[in-house]
Amino acid sequence: MLWTVSLCLLLAVSSSGVPLDRYSTKGQHKVLLISFDGFRWDYDRDVDTPNLDRMAKDGVKARYVTPPYLTITSPTHFTLLTGRYIENHGVIHNMWFNITTSEKLPYYATQFKNEWWDNGTLPIWITAQRQGLRAGSLHFPGTQSTYQGETQTVKDVEPRFYDYKNETKWRENVEKVMGTWFSEMDLDFVSLYFGEPDGTGHKYGPDSPERREMVKQVDRTVGFIRSLAERNGLADSLNIIITADHGMSNVYRNGLVKEITLSRIPGFSFRDIAFHLVDFGPSGMLLPKEGMLDKVYNALKGANPHLHVFKKEEMPERLHFANNNRILPIILFSDPGYVINGFLPVQFNTGEHGFDNEEMDMKPFFRAVGPVFQKNLEVGPFETVNIYPLMCHILGIKPDPNDGHLDATKHMLISTTEDLRQDIKSNIFVGLAAVAGFLVVVFIALVSFNAFKKETNDRSSEKSLPPGGKEETHQTAL
Ligand SMILES: [Zn+2]
Repeated sequence: MLWTVSLCLLLAVSSSGVPLDRYSTKGQHKVLLISFDGFRWDYDRDVDTPNLDRMAKDGVKARYVTPPYLTITSPTHFTLLTGRYIENHGVIHNMWFNITTSEKLPYYATQFKNEWWDNGTLPIWITAQRQGLRAGSLHFPGTQSTYQGETQTVKDVEPRFYDYKNETKWRENVEKVMGTWFSEMDLDFVSLYFGEPDGTGHKYGPDSPERREMVKQVDRTVGFIRSLAERNGLADSLNIIITADHGMSNVYRNGLVKEITLSRIPGFSFRDIAFHLVDFGPSGMLLPKEGMLDKVYNALKGANPHLHVFKKEEMPERLHFANNNRILPIILFSDPGYVINGFLPVQFNTGEHGFDNEEMDMKPFFRAVGPVFQKNLEVGPFETVNIYPLMCHILGIKPDPNDGHLDATKHMLISTTEDLRQDIKSNIFVGLAAVAGFLVVVFIALVSFNAFKKETNDRSSEKSLPPGGKEETHQTAL
C-alpha cells in the first residue's frame, strides 16, 4: 500500500512538466519569414511605428542582427534560408558572372540562373518538404530556382519590371500568403519578400524624409499582416519572423570626400585585369591576368586609407568570405561614405550597402511574434545565420548542416523542448525527493505509533496485573 501511494505521488509530480515537445512536433507550428529589404536596425527610431511597436510588445525584438559579409541582397537572403555563411552556400554575389566569357547578369536575371543558386546547399523550403512539410515563397531571392530537381509547393516570382514600392501590390501579396497559402492550402513555411525600404534608401539616403515615409508603409503592412493572421484563424499556429538582409549607409561625394576611382590609382591598370566586378557600391572583386596578381595587389594596397584590399587568402576569417571558388583572387571594400569606382565615378546612389558587416549601418532589424515566442522581450544582437536553426526548431524539422546555433536564439522562445526535458528531469528529482521525504515521515509515524501502542499496552497490562504481578514482571526482565 505504501509503495502504491509513493508511485502515485511520483507520477503526479513528474507529469507537471507536460506538454512535452509542445511545439517541436512536426507540422504543429507554422513559420512566416518576412524580409523588408534594407530595413536598418534603427529605422524605427525617427518614425512613428505603432504596429512594429505592438509586435515588439506581443513578441520579441532584437536590438539588431548581424548579416554575413558580403552585405548585399541575394547572398544575405540565401544565408537566412540556409543558415550558412556566404563562402559556404556559394551565392556570393547579386550578379551571376562567367570569368571566361566576361558575361555578367544583373540581380533580376540572376534569379533565373539555376546553377547560381543550386550549388550544393539546400534552402529551408526543400529541407522542410523532404521531411513532410509544405513550403512556399513569394519574391524571396532564390525562389525561382530548383534545388537538386525540387522546388517549393507554391512560388511566386515577380515580373521583370515590378514596382517594388506599390502598397496595393504588397497587400495583395499578403492576402495571397495568409488567405490562400497558409489558410486554404495549409502550408507550414512561407518566405515573403518586400523590396523596400532598400530602393528608397539607395535613392534618397537613409536620413531622408522619403525613407521615413517608406518605413511608415512598412509599419502599416506589418499591421495588415498581423490582422490577416487573426482573421484567418492563424494566431495560435503561425509564428512571424520579420527581418532584413542588410542596412544602409550614406554615400558622400561632390567634394565631401576624395572619391575612390581605381583607374586613377598610380600603378594600377585595367589592362592587367582579366575580369572584374566593380562599380557595385562599396565592394569589388578582381581577377588579375596570369602573373599580374602581385602587381595589381601592390598598386592598390595602401593607395587610399578608405580602400581595403585583400588577397583572397588574407581576408579576415571573421568575414567568412574567401573559401569558395567563385570568389575572385582580390577582394576590395571601402569605408562607409565611399564607393569603389572603376574607370570613372559613375555611381550616383545617395545610400549604399555592401560594407563590412561590423559597421552599425549594415545591421538589420529583427522582430518575432507567435505562440512559441516570449512576450515583451528585448534581446541582444545575434548573427542572422542563427535564424535558420531557430526556424527548423519551431517547424520540428532536422536542419541541414549550417553555421548557426539554436543556443543563440532559443532564449526568445517560451520554452524549448530541451528546457522541457530539463524540467521533467528536475521534476523527477523533486518527485523522488518528495517520495523519500514521505517514506521518512511514514517511517517515523509508524515507529512512533508502535512505541505509543507498546506503552499503552504496557500501561494497561500494569493496571490489570494480578497481585504479585510485579515480581513476575521483574522475573521476566531477568
Ligand atoms: Zn537588399
